[in-house]
Amino acid sequence: MERINRALMVIDVQNDFCEGGSLAVEGGVAVAQRITQHMRRNAHIYDLIVASKDHHIRPQGHFSKHPDFVTTWPVHCVAGTPGSEFHPTLDQSFIDMVVFKGEYDAAYSMFEGKTESGEALIQLLERREIEVIEICGIATDYCVLQSGISSLDYGFPTTVFLDLVAGVSPEDSADALEELQSRGANLDYALESQ
Ligand SMILES: [Zn+2]
Repeated sequence: MERINRALMVIDVQNDFCEGGSLAVEGGVAVAQRITQHMRRNAHIYDLIVASKDHHIRPQGHFSKHPDFVTTWPVHCVAGTPGSEFHPTLDQSFIDMVVFKGEYDAAYSMFEGKTESGEALIQLLERREIEVIEICGIATDYCVLQSGISSLDYGFPTTVFLDLVAGVSPEDSADALEELQSRGANLDYALESQ
């Protein structure tokens, strides 16, 4: 039987999006820890584990001193700052590739990201012959939602792990998951203990 090439996408598990960060999402640290647990148990089933970083230099209109937390945000994930680093509880040893997004504009979908060598995420996925995508990370109602929509739009069977995501707003996160499901995403739990 031919094996399916599977990728895990780990979205924006960065210090600024976890408790203690400038744009902390409740449950961010717990998600970072659970993603590590999932990778320790299951890294062998993935042909690629790719993690994204929100990586801002001068993101036009994305930051505000009076953010509305919908389209404008406190300063976060500025390239080269500790806030932009992966959370220390995320075990980076399992991550094969990192993609960076948002240098000069808001970028909510991981598919807007590029690797250090400038390869777009979709090219990386095609080069590695990825057929199936599983998604986890932060934030459910923004980058997880948009990355999931992109993945589905590219035609990948896509799973979002409910126990490995955290959102800004509980209501918007519920809506986001509902929208992903209505577009064809599979919603599942990664850790059996859930
Ligand atoms: Zn951002």
